[in-house]
Amino acid sequence: RKRIVIKIGSSSLTSMHGEISRRKLEKLVDEVVRLKDDGYEVLLVSSGAVAAGYRRLGCLTRPTSLPEKQAAASIGQGLLIESYSDLFLSHGYVGSQILITRSDFSDEDRYNNARNTINVLLERGIIPIVNENDTITMDFLKFGDNDTLSSKVAGLVDADQLLILSDIDGLYDANPSENEHAKLIEHVHEITPDIEAVAGGSGSAVGTGGMKSKVDAFKMAMASGIDSFLGKANEPNVVYDAVHNVA
Ligand code: ADP
Repeated sequence: RKRIVIKIGSSSLTSMHGEISRRKLEKLVDEVVRLKDDGYEVLLVSSGAVAAGYRRLGCLTRPTSLPEKQAAASIGQGLLIESYSDLFLSHGYVGSQILITRSDFSDEDRYNNARNTINVLLERGIIPIVNENDTITMDFLKFGDNDTLSSKVAGLVDADQLLILSDIDGLYDANPSENEHAKLIEHVHEITPDIEAVAGGSGSAVGTGGMKSKVDAFKMAMASGIDSFLGKANEPNVVYDAVHNVA
């Protein structure tokens, strides 16, 4: 069975106000369900815990300080998983939660243990939903963006493909939020220093890693022979097309 890791960023799961958008969540779930129906194993790396929780924390806008973000994530992570679980169950699939920190990848026993657990889930048809353990991880120990996490996880489970879904349809030859003449680079065969040089920061208030962390993630995934794709989360059939264009 083919294994697909799909990473979705906060900016692709939230509404204009920064809260979780039910419509966007449903769109993603529908795409994952289509892959599951076709026999793929799918693991999701999903951001969105802060967005899902800050209102119930009592904040009117998305918090910016680390303790407040972590407090919001503590509320939101559960709500986010509940929404995913309900949506997957309505299609007959089971979702599960995996919270990971960077140190899980630097200790061999923990690494192997995480891999064994995720393998059981995937082989039994479950959809693991991975996020960084936001509520306790210290700032300097964090991946900080789920792009890096997603490529580490793709390596961990020996994925066939890594799809990063964002608010942009691909890598441009300049940061499009700063340069209106930026052109889409259709295929990236190798992450060269030139490619790394055009990858800028995030264009949105919600995004964290920007293109820089995505390019780093792809570099790592490609070095492990994992087919990599960057696409726009709200594009119809983006997941289906990305998976079927390589198959
Ligand atoms: P996400 O929440 O999906 O991780 P980010 O906001 O962190 O999204 O990253 C995507 C953004 O990176 C794009 O919307 C764009 O503004 C910015 N960006 C910077 N450099 C580039 C580039 N060379 N090509 C495309 N996007 C770029």
